[in-house]
Amino acid sequence: NVEGEVRVRFAPSPTGNLHVGGARTALFNYLFARSKGGKFVLRIEDTDLERSSRESEEAVLRDLSWLGLNWDEGPGVGGDYGPYRQSERNSLYKQYAEKLLESGHVYRCFCSNEELEKMKEIAKLKQLPPVYNGKWASATDEEVQEQMENGTPYTYRFRVPKGSLKINDLIRGEVSWNLETLGDFVIMRSNGQPVYNFCVTVDDATMAISHVIRAEEHLPNTLRQALIYKSLGFNMPYFAHVSLILAPDRSKLSKRHGATSVGQFREMGYLPQAMVNYLALLGWGDGTENEFFTLEQLVEKFSITRVNKSGAVFDSTKLRWMN
Ligand code: GLU
Repeated sequence: NVEGEVRVRFAPSPTGNLHVGGARTALFNYLFARSKGGKFVLRIEDTDLERSSRESEEAVLRDLSWLGLNWDEGPGVGGDYGPYRQSERNSLYKQYAEKLLESGHVYRCFCSNEELEKMKEIAKLKQLPPVYNGKWASATDEEVQEQMENGTPYTYRFRVPKGSLKINDLIRGEVSWNLETLGDFVIMRSNGQPVYNFCVTVDDATMAISHVIRAEEHLPNTLRQALIYKSLGFNMPYFAHVSLILAPDRSKLSKRHGATSVGQFREMGYLPQAMVNYLALLGWGDGTENEFFTLEQLVEKFSITRVNKSGAVFDSTKLRWMN
């Protein structure tokens, strides 16, 4: 990575159509990259094999292309790039998990599910947070060896340090967490499958992502990811958590509020420019009364620090046709 180069990513899980919330996240990432002369990367987060499908991936790609949000790199040649897919990067995740085991940031945990359930119950009785009690955190080599020889299944657990963690979010300002309530968390399951937060961090770090711009619902993930970042010795990216999109009644926007996916609006005959313009104005403005921007104008005017902290209301009756 060139020092200081802006690299952002849109990382959808292909479990359905591209929703307006996801499309806005993609748009903000795209605008940020273009306004900084940086790169916009598309990464398909398809580690949940049961919920992911190629059909959904194709729908997301089609909708992004329709909106004009073209990505800059990926596997493939001649500028015709496919997206990166997490399902094709398993060996990389395993490699980094082993690295963390060697450095001691991660340890093997041989607890069975029943044992973990019991642990939670005990914590509850003692009115403690229902988190892992650290049983295998300080096991001796002999104890570990014995379980390995017995063939006991094990997970890789991340050793959470004591204290607190703080990030400076570009939209939300300072966000801090108390690490005591987190508990050592699993980064690789007993079947060898790395967990979501681990994959995301390895990807963002190895793809040299400079700014992680995503929905606010990922804030709890950011805590785990920031810890993993540090343990791997990578520079932390900047984070910008975009607020939720709300329905006109200020509840969480969902299907019962009518059309919420980009594909539905396309099928109804809306123009992509109208959609882009409307999405950009959900929680962003250039500080003037101006309400009509082309994609090029948005690139010129966009600033991540002008994105609102509070939720933006999606009212499709305000989405106009435009030509
Ligand atoms: N795959 C996640 C989602 O679709 C996004 C994760 C991220 O941006 O870090 O919600």
